[in-house]
Amino acid sequence: MRRTQPALVAREEIERQRERMREIAQMPGRPRTYCIVTYGCQMNEHDSETLAGMLREMGMEPVERREDADFVLFNTCCIRDNAERRALGNVTWLKELKKERPERMIGVCGCMVQRPGMAERLLRQYPFVDIALGTHNLYRFPELMAQALTTRRRVVEVVQDDEGHIPEDLPVCRQSPTHAYITIMYGCNNFCSYCIVPYVRGRERSRSAEAILQEARALKADGVREIMLLGQNVNSYGNDLQDGMTFPQLLRALDETGIDRIRFMTSHPKDLSDELIEVMAGAKHICHALHLPVQSGSDRVLASMNRRYTRAQYLERVRRLRERIPDIALTTDLIVAYPGETEEDFQQTCSLVREVGYDAAFTFIFSPREGTRAASMDGRIDEATATRRIEELIALQKENTRRRLQAMVGSVHRVLVDGASRRDAQQLAGKDEYGITVNFPGEGSLVGKIVPVRIGSAGESTLRGEICEGEIL
Ligand code: SF4
Repeated sequence: MRRTQPALVAREEIERQRERMREIAQMPGRPRTYCIVTYGCQMNEHDSETLAGMLREMGMEPVERREDADFVLFNTCCIRDNAERRALGNVTWLKELKKERPERMIGVCGCMVQRPGMAERLLRQYPFVDIALGTHNLYRFPELMAQALTTRRRVVEVVQDDEGHIPEDLPVCRQSPTHAYITIMYGCNNFCSYCIVPYVRGRERSRSAEAILQEARALKADGVREIMLLGQNVNSYGNDLQDGMTFPQLLRALDETGIDRIRFMTSHPKDLSDELIEVMAGAKHICHALHLPVQSGSDRVLASMNRRYTRAQYLERVRRLRERIPDIALTTDLIVAYPGETEEDFQQTCSLVREVGYDAAFTFIFSPREGTRAASMDGRIDEATATRRIEELIALQKENTRRRLQAMVGSVHRVLVDGASRRDAQQLAGKDEYGITVNFPGEGSLVGKIVPVRIGSAGESTLRGEICEGEIL
């Protein structure tokens, strides 16, 4: 059932923020340089691009090293305990930078700040932090910056608003001229037992299809070749829109814009419809790559995780995907040592991984997050068992990846060239249509082009090849 349209942040409010950016740009004592340190997922990376866009409008230049910046901003993640501890540890280290130059400004934002109780903790334990803001009021960053600069006092603002609002038309400073993120929806309604995201990102709210399509067309006109659509569960895009498009309809419309490549993440398996598979199979520009997190291969664990699909249902979706899109590359997320996970449950996960034969997998040891249901569950798994299980799973997946990559030797892949290879400056590197990094010798003038490459050999997670005959786009 469709609910009411999610609320946009009022145009006047966005205009007020733009006004603040212009005012800050005129302030003589403003920071001149900034460094944003980003933790976590693509959603955070894209938020950092928006923050960078706002800082640019405030008249600041980016620098590589935080030591060289007048303003250091940490965009944090709290999905796992060690991500949060790492961010907090690094924030503590900033104290020294502040001592060295007291006028240097320090900011902390993102999911960790949004977590209940964290803003109070920052105020209490981190007196050198000048600005802290959560995820729901990112668009108010210029206002908070202006307050901090004019009052020279600490500014902390965290809005607890489950419904959330959608900000449009904020400036963005993209990291790449050829790749761009487009957020299509915010928040999540699924409440998987182990996950903190619904508590820090609020309920699902979808951007209007019109705004998304306009953004995609503008990016294409700007030379962008590949877009990545972002959302915690893109498959439920549009469920909250009155008479809005569904995700498959949105994909079809985006395909018609003619942008070279379209990717998306993340897809919840329970919402992966036949219609979506058909659109992927028939579209010209949607990459044949899908990240489909399974988390566990045991029905008992899946039920406890509140994932709302069974092993059989998941495998049926994989079967359907492979039937309609035989060359699809499948990747996944896996959690081991979930509370109460028995050896048999774990072996079920291993057998599912063998059966699907994923191209790649992100594997994690369960990390309890305060406030989630799983954090208070009995049956914690000891560290030695957790380590043994994750090592076994990693070895299993490594073998899958090796086999999948080896099977690609001899075939021709279309590679969107990013630049020089990180390992060998004489080589170019880019991603193929399946999201795999391919290295090959070639001229720098090919950066930003889509090049046909015949695969000659496979490494652990990358491919090597040579440019071959075919159209360079
Ligand atoms: S679908 Fe589950 S794992 Fe993904 S963000 Fe939502 S609650 Fe977290």
